[in-house]
Amino acid sequence: MKHWITSLMVTAALLVGAGGSHVWAAKSFSQPVSGSYITQKYGKQHRAIDYQRYKHDKGFVGSIGDGKVIKVKRDAKCAYGWHVMVDHGDGYVSVYSHLSGISVLQGQKVKKGKKIGNMGKTGRVHAKYPILHLEVIKDGKKINPSSVMK
Ligand SMILES: [Zn+2]
Repeated sequence: MKHWITSLMVTAALLVGAGGSHVWAAKSFSQPVSGSYITQKYGKQHRAIDYQRYKHDKGFVGSIGDGKVIKVKRDAKCAYGWHVMVDHGDGYVSVYSHLSGISVLQGQKVKKGKKIGNMGKTGRVHAKYPILHLEVIKDGKKINPSSVMK
């Protein structure tokens, strides 16, 4: 009888250990603008990627992944212009800047590909045509968006 109780306790301890050691899978995001090309790559002076479509096209900007909208700002005087921030969990946040229109509300949950807004030239933009300036933040630091996007 004593032996039976001991083995039951060992089993319970193993179950607790397995539940506490969950490992998160690496994030995989998708491109925010289809049919676009990159006008400015990620680098030391530009910790973001700029996308552009054909000339005056204010292309559809989609969320790069599932998440929750944590900021919506319509301020043309801000360097980022009209911009939206989405929290994807696990320390990942994406920022969509220089938008000409915004299609989401603060606090809204979004799926990958959900329309965030349209490309534009609000804020500090030197481009001739509408762009999207995309930043990806991991644990508070700007990372190369290409490293986590397909
Ligand atoms: Zn940029």
